[in-house]
Amino acid sequence: MNDAKAAGDEKGEKHIDEQLAFLTPILKGFLTEMGKEAADLAVQAYGGHGYIVDNRAEQNLRDVRIAALWEGTTQIQALDLLGRKIMLQKMKPIGEHCGRLYAQCRPLLMHSDSGLRRRAWSLLGHAADWQLLTYRLGLRAASDREAIAAASVDYLMLSGYVTLAAHWLRIEETAVRALASRIPSPTPLGLLDRGDADGFEEETEFYRAKVQTSAFVFERLLPRTAAHRAAILAPTSALTAMRNEDFSFDHGR
Ligand SMILES: Cc1cc2nc3c(=O)[nH]c(=O)nc-3n(C[C@H](O)[C@H](O)[C@H](O)COP(=O)(O)OP(=O)(O)OC[C@H]3O[C@@H](n4cnc5c(N)ncnc54)[C@H](O)[C@@H]3O)c2cc1C
Repeated sequence: MNDAKAAGDEKGEKHIDEQLAFLTPILKGFLTEMGKEAADLAVQAYGGHGYIVDNRAEQNLRDVRIAALWEGTTQIQALDLLGRKIMLQKMKPIGEHCGRLYAQCRPLLMHSDSGLRRRAWSLLGHAADWQLLTYRLGLRAASDREAIAAASVDYLMLSGYVTLAAHWLRIEETAVRALASRIPSPTPLGLLDRGDADGFEEETEFYRAKVQTSAFVFERLLPRTAAHRAAILAPTSALTAMRNEDFSFDHGR
């Protein structure tokens, strides 16, 4: 954005500013929620030792809790994304954003690497579903005034998982390219001296770990969108059906 500004490219600067405005609630809301989950899992991994102060896992969990509150709570970020950034702008930002995701996937759909190819198809399907789901919500909002608020947090999380997958696909693409340029190496491993060979192995492992992490994101995290999708489309009536006085837990009355 700064480059566009420095070059006096007002249109380019505005375009990047709009992309950032769209991505900000997703990044802020989704990543702070995932941070809570990660810190909680760290306590769990330590077992009882995670709960006591020695390993500082509990300190992380307490510290990360504020992130989903200050500078905008998750619920407010979600309303900002779906209400202000998407619906009030007549769906334009989601159409443009998904267009960028389709363009990212397109060159990978016939790639020789089967993992990359499979995940490009997966992202393409999720992006198309995200866009259609948004249009469906827009239609529903015309007759149900609770539809946007009721769907917003699940919508934010679904947006976050798809965006996370898009980033990992980009990382995987870079890693696959790097691995392909190294194997077969122009210098056979046996001819490298020990230091070079160690460095070569280390870098290869680094790129392989990126590919494995991408597979983890697509296979273990992205399927969570199915539950969020179902919640987004669920009827809103149960949310507002209860009378205020029925929230009382004063069973003595
Ligand atoms: C340690 C700390 C430091 C802070 N530092 C700063 C600072 O430096 N500068 C500053 O400006 N502020 C600061 N804040 C304030 C912070 O910005 C607010 O706490 C935050 O914006 C949430 O507002 P609130 O506490 O009034 O909660 P509320 O607005 O009362 O929200 C309570 C709950 O209701 C939900 N909610 C509220 N409205 C809606 C809605 N319309 N639909 C659905 N759900 C809704 C919220 O998501 C939240 O879960 C700080 C807060 C803390 C705890």
